Amino acid sequence: MIELNDYQSIILGAGPAGCFTALKLSEKGIKTALIEEHSEIGSPVHCGECLSEFAVKNLKIELPEKVISKNVKGIKVIFPNGKEFFTHENGYVLEKDLFEKWIAEKAEKKGTEIFLNTRVNGIEKKEKGIELKTNKHSYTADFLIDGSGVSQVSSRLLGLNKPSETVIGMQYLMEEIPNEGWLEFYLWPDLAPEGYLWIIPKKDGKANVGLTTTNKNQAKKLLDKFIEEKKLGNKIVKSFGGLIPHSGPLEKTFDERILLIGDAAGFTSPMFEGGSQLAMKSAEFASVIGFEAVHNNNYSKEFFSAYQRMWKKEFPPYEKLLKAKKEFYSLSSNELNKFSEDLPYNLSSLTKKEKAIYGLKLALKHPHLMPKIKMYDSFKYSLSKFYGW
Ligand SMILES: Cc1cc2nc3c(=O)[nH]c(=O)nc-3n(C[C@H](O)[C@H](O)[C@H](O)COP(=O)(O)OP(=O)(O)OC[C@H]3O[C@@H](n4cnc5c(N)ncnc54)[C@H](O)[C@@H]3O)c2cc1C
Repeated sequence: MIELNDYQSIILGAGPAGCFTALKLSEKGIKTALIEEHSEIGSPVHCGECLSEFAVKNLKIELPEKVISKNVKGIKVIFPNGKEFFTHENGYVLEKDLFEKWIAEKAEKKGTEIFLNTRVNGIEKKEKGIELKTNKHSYTADFLIDGSGVSQVSSRLLGLNKPSETVIGMQYLMEEIPNEGWLEFYLWPDLAPEGYLWIIPKKDGKANVGLTTTNKNQAKKLLDKFIEEKKLGNKIVKSFGGLIPHSGPLEKTFDERILLIGDAAGFTSPMFEGGSQLAMKSAEFASVIGFEAVHNNNYSKEFFSAYQRMWKKEFPPYEKLLKAKKEFYSLSSNELNKFSEDLPYNLSSLTKKEKAIYGLKLALKHPHLMPKIKMYDSFKYSLSKFYGW
């Protein structure tokens, strides 16, 4: 008698990556289970909730009104001296919990079986499948997609990869915050060492006010100081956040019978740490390879290596990006202000000529900063077309 696994695919973690993979695989007729440790999909939110219009088109999704909190015009970047620069790119601030629930419901309608309150605590490869052990039952499948976010469960349990380096992201949902429809990103290293601060507008005058920094112990203190300096008041509805991988993709994003997606694979945009578009695009790629694996009855490491080639071809050049970020983080407030002196205001469409003139001016005025000019790649790769948000 042939022993069948419970499912063809099993997905660990119901974040945007896991839910989107479940939808894509179920649409293709693959028998899929989605396992989530929390009692509700999408909660607690650990995200600034921004998603660009480019991402929505790139992922071919049509957002229902109920998941959109606010339409935004793009990103306003504010240097320590208060100078403002813009990337004009339309996008959304979501109700992220509703967004994730919406995808999960669509997946369920297509056949995904969802198991909540179910925490994976063991993974075992079998001769003809893979077994997930949880606080409730064990589940077997032909292959596993790990979308467990920054917990990076399969890397940890199977020793596949060293864990990502992380920054902390912490924010308050606040009321009565004025805004003009921009995502405001503050490059203020004194208050956000190796990170930045943000005011992300939501509907009804609410906003996510937060920061990322490597200074994990001081994050709350620094954020409170920012709120005081910006005179944002004290109408805090709730605080939330989490850790974000920021050292680029893990070395192995596939193994025999396993694919890693989203934060579980280290796919965040290194500069401003946006991860949802990357999470969902990697989900799409994993569903393509997963479907082909079922079709060919081949779950070997070699077969699954196609996934890594696929994302490498599409995702931004991480090596360049990480170098740019390192340069960026090494700058003091004073140096950042010097960089801002002759910078054109519209960062999203700098022409070659504008860049050359800017470089020349910087070389003449502040020659010692020229070796750090690579830091501008940080801005370039924060655009939505490079999966920035
Ligand atoms: C403060 C903050 C602000 C951010 N702002 C933005 C932003 O504005 N835009 C943007 O694009 N990105 C942003 N990000 C990053 C973004 O939230 C992540 O990149 C994205 O959520 C990754 O999706 P994911 O599905 O890979 O992982 P997650 O969303 O983390 O989902 C992983 C899921 O796996 C579950 N899980 C983990 N371990 C287990 C287990 N053992 N058993 C069962 N289930 C498990 C978790 O409960 C979770 O539901 C932000 C992150 C933070 C922390």
